[in-house]
Amino acid sequence: MTVITRFPPSPTGFMHIGTARTGLFNWLYARRHGGKMLFRIEDTDRSRHSEEAVQAIINGLNWMGIDWDGDVVSQFARSDRHAEVAHELVKAGKAYYCYCTPEELEQMREDAKKEGRPTFYDRRWRDNPPSAPPEGVSPVVRIKAPMSGERVVHDKVQGDVRVAAEQLDDFIILRADGTPTYMLAVVVDDHDMGVTHVIRGDDHLNNTFRQNVIYEAMGWDIPSYAHLPLILGPDGAKLSKRHGATSVEEYRDMGYLPEAMRNYLLRLGWSHGDDEIIETEQAIKWFDLEHINQGAARFDFDKLNFVNAHYMKLADNDRLADLTIDIYKLRGINVSEIGRARLMARMDELKSRAKTLVQLADDAEFLVRDIPYEFEEKAAAQLNEDGKFIVRVIHDNLTGLSAFTADELESLCKSTADYHRDGKLGKVMMPLRAAVTGKASSPSLVHAMEVLGLEEVSKRIEYALSKL
Ligand code: GLU
Repeated sequence: MTVITRFPPSPTGFMHIGTARTGLFNWLYARRHGGKMLFRIEDTDRSRHSEEAVQAIINGLNWMGIDWDGDVVSQFARSDRHAEVAHELVKAGKAYYCYCTPEELEQMREDAKKEGRPTFYDRRWRDNPPSAPPEGVSPVVRIKAPMSGERVVHDKVQGDVRVAAEQLDDFIILRADGTPTYMLAVVVDDHDMGVTHVIRGDDHLNNTFRQNVIYEAMGWDIPSYAHLPLILGPDGAKLSKRHGATSVEEYRDMGYLPEAMRNYLLRLGWSHGDDEIIETEQAIKWFDLEHINQGAARFDFDKLNFVNAHYMKLADNDRLADLTIDIYKLRGINVSEIGRARLMARMDELKSRAKTLVQLADDAEFLVRDIPYEFEEKAAAQLNEDGKFIVRVIHDNLTGLSAFTADELESLCKSTADYHRDGKLGKVMMPLRAAVTGKASSPSLVHAMEVLGLEEVSKRIEYALSKL
């Protein structure tokens, strides 16, 4: 059997990281088994539908590096097929037309409440219609749900989950206006697309009992199910805005790499022993449904930072330079060829220090900026009279160096510290750093100075001395 999974998001305008994790699991499972992952947009809610919202999902998948097989399927475009199945079920006696008015349904609920019965639809049009169909009323189609016994979902994550048939009503599959309900559309699409494995959030577990009623009525094979526990915030409450970022786009903008997000989201709900770092290639070899965690996972930003820092170190320097320059563009900083070359020259150090691309961009901004730049408050404080004196001494000695290299610069700083500051190197480096970078902390200063070059360093020092 070829494994066919599916990723059927509702286009909400952004991709929630829970949705991204679901997509990732479906993708890994399909790849693991040499199968296919199909992609369907559940776009039947036309009031909220927009092309931008669909594009946001596609962008999210592209960024995550998750691809799909075949064309993007629109659920809305398949409405006629859904209706056809509803009518087929009526013909086969598995579903029926119900002509109840909203007032009747309301009355039914009131009566049931008074008598302490479940407030479900009382199935009055199911077997013995109360009257001939009323004129001018468009009926809905309801499915005949089983009325006794136990319903079981065999779930790969949750185990066997049971519910008494009395808990299921004859739910609507086709509305009076002829449009399908979500319950019908999902089943018909999954069946027609040949889906063998449904891997989705456990907020859909209750729907599964209903969806199986439709599968059985049509005599279709029921797919295997794996319902994933929710993602919680660090405090154990459902992950929401109040915990910080919830969408894939936000994580991208915070400077996380897609391969780190894949690794992190994989581990958030699935495990392979104690392994934390699992590259995608490896994940494709290992991923299974058996090791999906049963309990909800808590989002842990420290762990995400740890995983991202790992992938930053592995990432190609050119790619990191491009991504960092993209961040500068958003900041309105235009990076010249020289700026890029400086970034590249220091990239090994930069990427080993930074947990995220944004941190890398912050750390390296002084390399790509031109004067005049702002001085951080703490940096400005370094450039008091004592600080300026030291910076002047260094400046006066720069042209006398045998070579403008980190080693030579370091010796100069050391001898200056010995001569003027009792050997306290920090008392030289701090004001010098402030003058050259505008900041109180930075990557290795002497290496940065080497990359900036004599002319630029002199210019910066002169600027700092004149400005402060
Ligand atoms: N469209 C649903 C959602 O975004 C997915 C439904 C399903 O997986 O069956 O939650």
